[in-house]
Amino acid sequence: MDKTSEDVRLNSLTEKLRLRLDGDQLTNCMRCGFCLPACPTFAETGIEAESPRGRIALMKAVKDGIMAPDVAFEEQMNHCLGCRACEPACPADVKYGQLIEQARDAIEDHTKTHRGWVKLVRHTAFQTIFPNQKRVRWMGKGLRFYQTSGMRTLARKTGAMKMFPKHMREMEEILPDVAVQGVVEQIGILHPAKGEKIATVALFRGCLMDVLFADTNIHTVDLLTEAGFEVVIPEQQNCCGAMHAHSGEIEGARSLARSNISIFKAAGVDYIVSNAGGCGALLLEYDHLLHEDEQWKDDAMWFAERVIDVSDLLVRMGRLLVFSEREENQCVRITYQDSCHLRNVMRSSDAPRRLMRQVTGVEFVEMKEAERCCGSAGTYTLTQPVMSGQILDHKMEHVRATDAQYLLTSNPGCLLQMMHGINQHGLNGQMKAVHIVDFLHERMCGQDE
Ligand code: SF4
Ligand code: SF4
Repeated sequence: MDKTSEDVRLNSLTEKLRLRLDGDQLTNCMRCGFCLPACPTFAETGIEAESPRGRIALMKAVKDGIMAPDVAFEEQMNHCLGCRACEPACPADVKYGQLIEQARDAIEDHTKTHRGWVKLVRHTAFQTIFPNQKRVRWMGKGLRFYQTSGMRTLARKTGAMKMFPKHMREMEEILPDVAVQGVVEQIGILHPAKGEKIATVALFRGCLMDVLFADTNIHTVDLLTEAGFEVVIPEQQNCCGAMHAHSGEIEGARSLARSNISIFKAAGVDYIVSNAGGCGALLLEYDHLLHEDEQWKDDAMWFAERVIDVSDLLVRMGRLLVFSEREENQCVRITYQDSCHLRNVMRSSDAPRRLMRQVTGVEFVEMKEAERCCGSAGTYTLTQPVMSGQILDHKMEHVRATDAQYLLTSNPGCLLQMMHGINQHGLNGQMKAVHIVDFLHERMCGQDE
């Protein structure tokens, strides 16, 4: 890019950032630094610009016209995991998540920091596959064909996988077997409550979840019906838009939100249940996502008020369930990796722990820094593999120290990252990463009499 076109790009990006960044939120930051110890990128680097306070200061400097958003600025914004651990730590209630999304939304329109293959992956994922549930299923079928037709074995034996970046090869190694059919195709749409109905809830099935972990969706329905909820799974629902929103594709996220709101509103349910922290957090913030949209803002509020994580719903409103370890004469040790968005946005960390402690014959061990991000963070493993790997290595030291046989999580991205960590750190055979819903389902003995 010559100097003139680079100047045009920077001027236009500066304009967009000034327009989109929320000046009130930037001013709310009083530079106290309470958020610094909570931030994984600051913990890894010790650099102020890699902290929430540092990133806010950079955004404010651009907003106030003190600096221009150069490539280093873009990189600092892209290094942020979007884990939002800085928000609960902030005494001034600065909405950091909104600020980073505004910054990325502006940057995305003008970026030149993505490498060619990243651009291709982003375009295919955001514009082509995820906005359309049928294409998500076709992607699943393609993956399934790759896994079962002998192509996978061939690709690994011939070294064809070496064409792909290292982190993509590593993720391919741990990818679970893809389900041929999603939850609706397997068990249908409507599921009556066991015993007297407490409420009618809609399951948000997710896209990754329904392709890679369809059994978890089925198990979620079983837990909910057993606990007294009637479950409906609206068939036309779409991707939540979280990956779009966190990657600066806000308009794509808004469009998916509008579609989901109209579909779930038509179902007329009491609650909208998520079993994936990453999806649940964005669903919960549909009201903010559409707060400037006069036509949709009331319906978005209706939707957001009903969103709840499965663990929270079971603990807060469900009938008490009995869970018991199947392995007799053996105490099973488990630990838990929080989903950042479940903990920091949905503010749910107690309910999963209460459920795990409810299982007889199981010892729950709290992992050191369980609340800290695992480095998964949506597409972060692909776009920032070095930092992601560094964070994962530290996480796995704490995982190993628990000596647990099961590492439970509440989000498909975290689950894949934990599987990857177990594989990379030679813990296969000693430890298994499992979604909390699957773990509970396998040990469910029915309602407490
Ligand atoms: S979202 Fe996470 S990585 Fe980003 S600044 Fe906040 S704590 Fe740090
Ligand atoms: S804790 Fe909040 S107010 Fe304090 S520096 Fe961090 S973002 Fe700013």
